[in-house]
Parts: sequence; structure tokens; C-alpha cells
Amino acid sequence: PHRFDSISLAPPDAILGLTEAFNSDPRADKMNLSVGVYKDAAGVTPILRCVKAAEQKLLDGETTKGYLSIDGLPDYRGAVREMVFGDQVPADRVAIVQAPGGTGALSVAADFLASQCSAGPGKPMRVFLPTPTWANHNAIMQDAGLAVDSYSYLGSDRRTLDFDALISDLKTKPSTGDAVLLHACCHNPTGVDPTPDQWQEIASVLSQRGLLPFVDFAYQGFGDGLEQDAAGLRTILENVDEAIVCSSYSKNFGLYSERVGAVGLVAASAQATAASLSQLKRCVRSNYSNPPRHGAAIVATILADSELTAMWKDELEEMRLRITSLRELFVAGMAKQPGAPDFKFLLDQKGMFSFSGLSPMQVDELKAKYGIYIVGSGRINVAGMNEDRMDWLCDAVADVAC
Ligand code: PMP
Repeated sequence: PHRFDSISLAPPDAILGLTEAFNSDPRADKMNLSVGVYKDAAGVTPILRCVKAAEQKLLDGETTKGYLSIDGLPDYRGAVREMVFGDQVPADRVAIVQAPGGTGALSVAADFLASQCSAGPGKPMRVFLPTPTWANHNAIMQDAGLAVDSYSYLGSDRRTLDFDALISDLKTKPSTGDAVLLHACCHNPTGVDPTPDQWQEIASVLSQRGLLPFVDFAYQGFGDGLEQDAAGLRTILENVDEAIVCSSYSKNFGLYSERVGAVGLVAASAQATAASLSQLKRCVRSNYSNPPRHGAAIVATILADSELTAMWKDELEEMRLRITSLRELFVAGMAKQPGAPDFKFLLDQKGMFSFSGLSPMQVDELKAKYGIYIVGSGRINVAGMNEDRMDWLCDAVADVAC
């Protein structure tokens, strides 16, 4: 018998599947608000000017395509250390490992936790995910062999944080040694982030209960600004000795297809850091051996050059402010629609995503009637909107939602 004959089809990825449907939709005026990439006013995911300039430099100066070391480019790792940790943690207590994107970083970190930590003899370590969270978190953690559980996050209004439920869950559900996954900023899919006071309380509970912060930092610079977006993480690191931070440079450098990310591990001593680094490298070695050079070299080149760094900060700020202005335009546009729901809550949410509150039926109707593609949960990518077509979008949303 053929061993592959009995394999059943895996379900298609909900979000990437929508993009396929979008691409084959013949309507010229269609609009994709589903997939999580930034788009400029022309509807293009642009290559940043600082990236083009860095690539030119690399092309001129590159002398080898030899392998990188298992943990990646030293200059890149130094740049990540500075962006993510600043000077908050002594260098000998932070291990940085370059990884293929934020996804690769989460996967290496999950492999590390599954192999090095446990909830008792023969019991896998547990990781608690917010409800809801980026759908891939669950799959990555489970595939690594971790036990996955959840804590409350979004309120029943689907637009604000249910902070009491979150704290109550963190105080009662996990046990000492368990990990808690937190979105550092721009929570995907809701756009709902904790306030500084709430971060303080979360950090206290993590510290009191001996829980490991497992921080996903995929949107630094898309919320309130580069440093501001690290504020929650800073608060956490003031309160705990150990943490894992998985960062991604897909969004803030527009390097989606180059796969640039990193695992940053904070341990309590230099010795524990060195041992943890060696185990992280073992996870990389058996998985993909060593990371790709190009994207990380771009980031390192930009951040080693003050002019390119200034250019990057301007371009990042341009993306951030454009998302904010699209939020404002949409809210103002919907306010003019008689009988339309109030979308003001979108102004309090951060980053590219928001839960719009649109029902699955309304989402279906927008797709069928107008070619507007939104994820079934109602999550919209604000960056997929367009200034020039805002009235058209608001008319369409009003048509299905009023
Ligand atoms: N974490 C979150 C919360 C994300 O939204 C994403 C990207 N959609 C990632 C991680 C992964 O990023 P990357 O594309 O760099 O793998």
C-alpha cells in the first residue's frame, strides 16, 4: 500500500487562503483588508528607501556567500540587542540568536522551552496564550511539544481589554514555571494593548507567581513609536530576571520576504545565559543549521550608519502615521453614515489591526457585493485601506452594517 494515500488534506490557512481568493477576484475595484502587510497610498507594499540604499552598499561590498554562524550575524545581533533591550539588561545576561522571521524566532524559542523546561517529570512546559491571539501561536507551540492553555484578553464587547479577567486568570490559571505569551505592542488580531499601569500590574503578577514572560514583539514602531512601543517590555524586565523576546523586522523594515527576526533570551546569570545560548543554537542547528544572511545584513547595515538610521526612522514614522490617519479617516467617514455603528474605538487601538465588530455575515456580504476582503473574525488590516477610496469603503460598510 502507498503510505501517503491515506493522508487527508490540511485545512487551508484562513488568512492566506483569503489572499488567494482576492488575487483571483476579477473586480478592478476590490480591496484587501485581510493580510497583515503594510500598503502605501498606491496599494503597494513598498521597499523602504533605506533598504534599497543598504542593499546597494551590500551588493558593492559583499565578498562571500559563506555560511553565517549558527546564531547569525554579530552586527545584527548587536543591533537587535539595542533595539529590544536598550541598556536595561547587562550584556552578559542577554543571548541573541538571529532567526528566520518572527515565526522562526517563536519556533526556535518554543523548541528551546520544550526541550529545556518542563512542568514536572514527563510533563511538557505549559504556555498560556491570550484569547484571541495570532492563530499561528497555537500551532507553533503545539508542534514544538509545549502544552498550550489560554488566558482572557479581549472583553465581550470585542473592542476593549478585559483587564480584570486577564489578571484574575494570570493569578489563578498558570503555575510557577509556566510561560505567558504577551504581545509587546499592537496586539494581533485586536489592536488592543494594555496601558502603562496595566503593564505594571501584569509584570507584578508575573514576578510574584514566577511566570516566564514569553514576549512576541512583531510591530515595534507601528504603535506609538519605537521606544514607546517597548515600554511594556521595559516594565516587565524591571520586575523579572528571566524572559524570552521574539522580535520580527518584517513590518518595521518592510522585509517580509527576507525573513528577519531574533530570539532574545534574558537569564539571571552570565552562566545561565551562556548555557541557554548553547541550547538555542542546538535548536537552530538541528532545524535549519544557520540563518539567511541578506535581510539581517540589511538591518545591520542600516543601523550601523547614522544617515540610513535616520532615513529608516523617518520611513517607519511615515508608515505609523499613515495608519493612524487611515483610522481617523475611516472613523470620520463612518460617523457621517446615518445609522452606522460607532467606530470611535478604532482610535484607541494600535498598529495595523483592529477587530471591526463586523459579523461573519457582514464580512461575507462585503466580499460578495463589493470585493472587500476581511478575515471572518472581523479583523481588518487598516493599512489596506486607501485615502482616495475611503468614501467608497464607508458607503460599502454602511450598506452591510446599517
Ligand atoms: N507574531 C505576530 C503577532 C505576527 O502578527 C506576526 C506576523 N503576522 C509574526 C509574529 C511573524 O512575523 P514574521 O513574518 O516575521 O515571521
